Amino acid sequence: MKAAIPFSTTTGHQYLYSSYNKQFLLSHPLINYFAGLQGAVKSPERIKNKAGKSQLVRIPGLGNYCLSEYQYYLKKFYFLKHYGFFKPGVQKNRDGVFPPNRIEQNLAQTKQIIFETTEDCNLDCVYCTYSKFYFNKERERNKINTGDAIQLLDLILSKRRINPDQELAISFYGGEPFKNFSFIEQIVNYIKAHKDRYLKIKYSLTTNGLLLRKYINFLVENDFELAISLDGDEFANSFRILKTNKKPSFELVTRNIDMVREKYPLYFDRRVIFLTVRHSRNNLKTIYEHFSSKYGKTPILSSITTTGLVGEFREEFKETFLESQLPSVDNSWYVQEMFTKHPLVAETAEIFERFGNFVFRHPKQLLNPLKKQKDPRKYLPTATCSPFDLRLYMSADGGIYPCEHISRIFELGSVKGSKIDIDSNRITETYNSYFSRIKKLCNQCYLSDNCKECIFNTGVETGVPSCEFFMNKNKFTQHLSEIFNNLEKDNSLFARIRDEAFLAK
Ligand code: SF4
Ligand code: SF4
Repeated sequence: MKAAIPFSTTTGHQYLYSSYNKQFLLSHPLINYFAGLQGAVKSPERIKNKAGKSQLVRIPGLGNYCLSEYQYYLKKFYFLKHYGFFKPGVQKNRDGVFPPNRIEQNLAQTKQIIFETTEDCNLDCVYCTYSKFYFNKERERNKINTGDAIQLLDLILSKRRINPDQELAISFYGGEPFKNFSFIEQIVNYIKAHKDRYLKIKYSLTTNGLLLRKYINFLVENDFELAISLDGDEFANSFRILKTNKKPSFELVTRNIDMVREKYPLYFDRRVIFLTVRHSRNNLKTIYEHFSSKYGKTPILSSITTTGLVGEFREEFKETFLESQLPSVDNSWYVQEMFTKHPLVAETAEIFERFGNFVFRHPKQLLNPLKKQKDPRKYLPTATCSPFDLRLYMSADGGIYPCEHISRIFELGSVKGSKIDIDSNRITETYNSYFSRIKKLCNQCYLSDNCKECIFNTGVETGVPSCEFFMNKNKFTQHLSEIFNNLEKDNSLFARIRDEAFLAK
């Protein structure tokens, strides 16, 4: 990252960010002015002579300053300069690649296996990735093959070292997973029958809630974590319509949720979570109000994916679904209530951690808090997870993917007709060839130390990846301004982030 970055907020306050010292400083227009001159600062003597009798110094674009003020800030500027404030910072090299043995290690210790139980669904959500808006294969009614799924399960468990503390999560996803309930039942029974091998297993399931009434007893008996997709109140949820008659699903789903809550109040408190897609018919405030007042919960938020959109429907998609306003941190009560679940609070905490020097997560960091020398290590470009380290996704047609969120064009392997094809070398090569296509962009990106983008969202398959989050110096400067604008709007937030946000992680 180049030198120091001056920025200002809408209230007119001036700040400086030193990438070398990793410090944010409340600044003065004169210091930012000197910083912008890049070494061409006039000596105090020359300025004194120029000021003459009026003792005023005229700064083009800034106005007049009295000589003593000018000299004071000039001294301060030299002081900061002496302590490296304006030196270029060290940015991580993003030319890294996956080592060849990583995939095997990951498979042996993966934390979650997600089964796409079926492609079939009883809803017809307008923004579904199987809708007309997306390039996707037609949704068929494939149901996952139980024998193949068990084979995969066995393979992964055979690679695992026995460790009584290591948990494995088995998750059921869809389509609507209850449309293939017998698969869920068979997997759970298989695991129970081989309990000695499967030490700590926990289950989770993601549902649209329509069939909850029928299957809730089974979920409670087996202590499933239950994730219910719901976008908020009736209006917010109106993109989620029934397949049979295209009517809203809200009322039916809400009735089912209320039943679960009434019948199993402890289970509901402990194991039920909500998944909410943000779009043009909801916003953070209404989402928070709905779930906190009705269920005493804060949902997990996601956005509608914009990758894989069909060109001719792109505009219609934007008009129909994309949020009209960027979220902002104002001093509303719900921001304090959501706290790190509010996207901008989370982003602020992350920027301070990655770009500042006051968050220490390991005692070693205290011994050497600032790495000002060039770090010889090579880091991976993007923020793509290491495949299978956290999770492995098996689709209903037997495809193997790193997760459930990415396009079907990125199949990494398969389990079909009892044949498992997971070739670690091929997967490593695929990832590394993708990384080689985007590393140049990531090495130029000012946000790379706080990147959250996945390689599979960058159009990497086209050979010319692009990234909607890429930040050049100007964009990064705007980003810092936005963050500090928000902190100025609600000045109790900074203290709370400092005191609580990092401990909450
Ligand atoms: S979206 Fe990308 S980074 Fe995220 S879990 Fe999936 S593969 Fe990993
Ligand atoms: S934000 Fe985009 S361009 Fe920047 S490092 Fe991440 S993936 Fe690369």
